[in-house]
Amino acid sequence: MILDKERLRDNLDRVIWKIEEARLQRSEHLIVQMCVVSKYTDIENIKTLYQLGQRNFGENQVKQLDDRSSTLDELPLAWHMIGNLQKNKINKLIELNPLLLQSLDSLELAKELDKRLKVKGKTLSALLQINSANEATKSGVSSAEAIDIYQEIKEECSNIELKGVMSIGAHVDDTKIIQDSFNSTYKIYETLQNSGATICSMGMSSDYKLAIKCGSNMVRIGSALFE
Ligand SMILES: *Cc1c(COP(=O)(O)O)cnc(C)c1O
Repeated sequence: MILDKERLRDNLDRVIWKIEEARLQRSEHLIVQMCVVSKYTDIENIKTLYQLGQRNFGENQVKQLDDRSSTLDELPLAWHMIGNLQKNKINKLIELNPLLLQSLDSLELAKELDKRLKVKGKTLSALLQINSANEATKSGVSSAEAIDIYQEIKEECSNIELKGVMSIGAHVDDTKIIQDSFNSTYKIYETLQNSGATICSMGMSSDYKLAIKCGSNMVRIGSALFE
């Protein structure tokens, strides 16, 4: 559905205001970036949000990332890959030059990706995805292994530039459990700051305020912007 500019402006204002509120509750020094998740919305709405000042957009499929980034290549947008990356889509993703692969979810994928990057003489920035809610349906490394795997990727995969971590909050109604999953990711992020991590990507439409209160500095917002 194509939304008119006023409606998108209202939605955007509301989200930005809530981000601001949550940020100030955590710390006035915390700077929170927003990645607009455009996977379920029309390409027209991406253009309108660009006019309203947004630059970072996330897609969860390489095919759609390809279609949209090429259709919109006149605009100076920064694309994020946020979904599960299949091995047979690695080369295509590298060609698309995304700003950030947020969903690097295993050591095995990192090694495969690094190999292909080396062949092409390119580098790619990425976040290690952590399954801190320990949910079988979610991808990502376990909290227990996250630090070791992060270090191993840093040491062995020289064409991947690890910038931090990404996590999806627990998919439950109990706020306490969601908060625990964010706190767990944040703790790992804190440790990894010594290894150069600067991005802690947590929080979607339903839980970004909580995520920011737990220290997130990048939220990924879809549905709240397109209602
Ligand atoms: C879809 C998606 C989002 C955005 O979800 P909303 O609830 O629509 O805000 C954020 N992160 C990831 C990894 C997603 O797949």
